[in-house]
Amino acid sequence: MPLKHTPVKLAIVGGGAAGMFAAAVAAERRIPCVLIERKARLGSKVLMTANGRCNFTKDISAEQFLADVGEAKDFVAAAIRECPPRQIIAGFKSLKVPLRRMADGRMFPADGKAATIVHAFGDLLRDSEVPILTNCPVRDVEKVRGGDGEKARGGFVLQTKNFDLLAENVLLATGGVSYPKTGSVGDGQNFAKALGHRLVPYQPGLIGLETNDRKVTSLAGRCFEDGRAKVIGPDGATLFDYKGEVDCESFGLSGAAVYNAQRFIAHYLSPSHPLTLSPSHPLTLEVWFGHNRLSFKNLKPRPVKEAIVTIGGVATDEIDPKTMESKLVPHLYFAGEVMDIDGPTGGYNLTMAFATARKAVAAIGESMRRGK
Ligand SMILES: Cc1cc2nc3c(=O)[nH]c(=O)nc-3n(C[C@H](O)[C@H](O)[C@H](O)COP(=O)(O)OP(=O)(O)OC[C@H]3O[C@@H](n4cnc5c(N)ncnc54)[C@H](O)[C@@H]3O)c2cc1C
Repeated sequence: MPLKHTPVKLAIVGGGAAGMFAAAVAAERRIPCVLIERKARLGSKVLMTANGRCNFTKDISAEQFLADVGEAKDFVAAAIRECPPRQIIAGFKSLKVPLRRMADGRMFPADGKAATIVHAFGDLLRDSEVPILTNCPVRDVEKVRGGDGEKARGGFVLQTKNFDLLAENVLLATGGVSYPKTGSVGDGQNFAKALGHRLVPYQPGLIGLETNDRKVTSLAGRCFEDGRAKVIGPDGATLFDYKGEVDCESFGLSGAAVYNAQRFIAHYLSPSHPLTLSPSHPLTLEVWFGHNRLSFKNLKPRPVKEAIVTIGGVATDEIDPKTMESKLVPHLYFAGEVMDIDGPTGGYNLTMAFATARKAVAAIGESMRRGK
């Protein structure tokens, strides 16, 4: 019998939040797929979320979500409207995951364990017999450009250490570049770049700010739940105001209020500007914690490897928001943080990973149905 190579319909590269969700949607829609993960287990970063508790979404409407999310709003609007937070909540309920809703709508597994979310995906994928390759970094994704035999069908060759894999569709769900020990090191962005995509430079998002101010460092280890962070513009107008946790650290400040203000500043300043606030910059950050109210013009964010989210990645103007398909390379799709999308704290980033994954897999299913 002659050897016949059959490409897999869909190769999902990256078994994090977006990749696991994509594989679950593919199973539901009976789209044959393989999930390929660099690390020995799925969801290493998901396990770290919200200090291991996993704030997986926020119980708000799609429109409120989009109003809160910032720059990514237009690009993710179709995905979020099709897979709004309440559908994600219903999905975990249908998997029999007991949930806990906080007063502000943030949603967690009731046992406070991110592992419960990762296990729910693992069980679903096991029961659906989705093949999962762990401990298997994809080294390259190459577009097959015609030729003889199976290559004439087009598609992609995915190179791993021990074998190559042929795939008709590839979904890059390899994450951002923070916490590289979780496996998210920027591979998907590099594959996309090699295939002709433009990358938006990386910046840390939702990260602590360094300061030597003794009022901060002398309180290292203290957590102020009723803190506040304000960003003031050059004319004295308040550009951003967030009430929430402020934590004092040995390096400076962290906590939700500081993170969200830092992210606002990072987006406000153009990418060509250094992120460091200096006296020449027109912005001032005011932070309240306990009885203290401090004004900073000269703050430095911690490095991107410690960020909750990566600002930057594959430029979204080269991706179709209706399908998450590359506008440059047919059958190449994206989901999650590999793209230049980021949201505030509060479950927004996992929600975008899930919703963009669902959008991509739905589009792949539709394109297969049409025999494209
Ligand atoms: C400390 C921390 C706390 C956070 N808390 C929250 C929170 O509470 N709520 C929230 O909404 N968001 C939170 N986030 C953000 C959220 O975790 C991410 O936005 C989300 O995980 C992104 O999903 P993703 O699937 O795009 O990427 P990831 O979850 O990072 O997954 C990418 C996966 O791809 C794999 N991979 C990479 N390259 C390859 C390759 N070459 N071959 C095979 N596999 C590869 C990686 O190993 C990884 O498993 C937090 C992040 C951090 C760091």
